Amino acid sequence: MKQITIQKAGAKVWRAKLTRPFSIAKGQHDLLENVLFWIELSSGARGFGEAAVATHITGETVEETLRHLKETARQVPGRNIPEFPHIAEESKSRLSKNPCALAALEMALLDALTREKKMPLWRAFGTRVRTLKTDMTVVLGDLFEAEAAAREILKRGIRSLKVKIGRNFDLDLRRVATVAKIAKKCPLFLDANQGFTAAQTLKFLRELKKLKIKPALIEQPVPKEDWEGLSKVSRDGGILVCADESVSSFQDAKRLVRQKAAGAINIKLMKMGLLGGYEIACFAKRHGIKLMIGTMMETPLAATAAAHLAAGMGGFDFIDLDAPFFMAERITRGNFVNRAGLYDLSKISKGIGVLPLEA
Ligand SMILES: [Mg+2]
Repeated sequence: MKQITIQKAGAKVWRAKLTRPFSIAKGQHDLLENVLFWIELSSGARGFGEAAVATHITGETVEETLRHLKETARQVPGRNIPEFPHIAEESKSRLSKNPCALAALEMALLDALTREKKMPLWRAFGTRVRTLKTDMTVVLGDLFEAEAAAREILKRGIRSLKVKIGRNFDLDLRRVATVAKIAKKCPLFLDANQGFTAAQTLKFLRELKKLKIKPALIEQPVPKEDWEGLSKVSRDGGILVCADESVSSFQDAKRLVRQKAAGAINIKLMKMGLLGGYEIACFAKRHGIKLMIGTMMETPLAATAAAHLAAGMGGFDFIDLDAPFFMAERITRGNFVNRAGLYDLSKISKGIGVLPLEA
């Protein structure tokens, strides 16, 4: 590839209202407040990336992410775009405590490169594109909210549901029972976001069994550093355990395999970057670990970038790319997911296919 250099780059805070607070065991998003990062090549092609900041989950903040990406924007001009793996690698240690910034940088680099090469991003990860059907989340709330959310999800045509749990044992049990009753034949994914202990989780699962409810999996039941608890639930819970917060690096994925701590990993670009996510997903597949593709609170830009990874690689068992459904405002253009949760990237001719509205 001829010399095509990065000419300009920039970063800015990106906000959008949500349809409702996205509430989980560790806190909530009242607003989408992310950082948009962009680059422009000497050929004129542009690339966009998004850092989805989830302070209550990862401790990263909008201020530091903006600062890091503005710093990055000063460093990358002059670099040759085909050198993107080196540019990402060099930024890795600087952004090690701010992985969502790394995700935004890698996303913008790969978006620009694949636009330049006139190929869709998924082609970087595989030879054919798969359609993906996402689940949709019933966030924490009261019983009535759970019921209304489940009905709304089914009405859209979505047929797998993620139910957030982990804050109030008894209420959560009743919420799951309510959702299970409404969404009778749909697979249910429970996500405690680190809210329970192993003993509480096992008790929760026993109570569900009494009610004849069999969820398809339980995600991150225990605190992320409680590997023993995670293993215990995997061993004794009689259910597939999916690690989310516990796995945010290749090291974590290796540990999970070594300790047989969980049977599935939730791959999120914001935890591990785009290239790291790919690497971990390949490693997990080799070791028979099931894969979920997930997001933080992301616009269609980052959510579609994640969809490209899963749709190109294939082999993702669980699709959790519903964040755009919680946005009350449109701040992007290019939409490749329908109301019923079907992601179809086959019409995308170059890049991620989604642009900021102002671009
Ligand atoms: Mg999760």
